[in-house]
Amino acid sequence: MMSLTRRHALVGLAAAASLPLLGRHAAAQAPEGPFKLPPLPYANDALEPHIDARTMEIHHDRHHAAYVNNMNGFAKDHPQLGQKPIEEILANLNNVPEAIRTGVRNNLGGHANHTMFWQIMGKSGGKPTGEVAAAIDRDLGGLEKFQNDFNATGGRVFGSGWVFVTVTKDGKLAIVPKPNQDTPLMDGQRALMGNDVWEHAYYLKYQNRRPDYLKAWWNVVDWAKVGERYAAAKAGRLTI
Ligand code: MN
Repeated sequence: MMSLTRRHALVGLAAAASLPLLGRHAAAQAPEGPFKLPPLPYANDALEPHIDARTMEIHHDRHHAAYVNNMNGFAKDHPQLGQKPIEEILANLNNVPEAIRTGVRNNLGGHANHTMFWQIMGKSGGKPTGEVAAAIDRDLGGLEKFQNDFNATGGRVFGSGWVFVTVTKDGKLAIVPKPNQDTPLMDGQRALMGNDVWEHAYYLKYQNRRPDYLKAWWNVVDWAKVGERYAAAKAGRLTI
């Protein structure tokens, strides 16, 4: 019979050996690849009470993660997907092999949209300042009219989709709705900011009251980040 000491040593070895195995198993579930899930730049509960922590957790860790994982799945058989800038692939979907084109449209669109979405939120509140504030006054009729028009446009998206503000290289702004995970990037444009009106973005707290979510969302827009994106767009440096 094996000595107690030797048995313990073997149990210890088995436990240690199982750790890297678990790591490999997790990696197999979420295929590694060129597409990465960016971490939320704040805690899940940072946007409370306007967006609840549970919604943020599920939205980022499951919905956005699924788009990224699906893209890494496509990249296994189509490694060229990982070698081009995301905005370039989305602007030229006709160049994507037909068998995966719809999948890339949905999942890479979702990845780009959510990457932007996390970035332009935070608990800053406040109002736009500087050049972006001037552009809102010039192109969108001032902050109040802009917010009302943006909310109305988001409210009219039937089913799932987004409401964006696009920005040209000259700094001109426009409100643009999109269905599903489509993005202005697919038209060769740039999104300054946007709000996700899929039910997964608000249903736990707001249920069918999308207009209430759209209204409350302005409390968590990080105008400093939007200002940075505006400057980047005018400098030709804004990607997704
Ligand atoms: Mn979403």
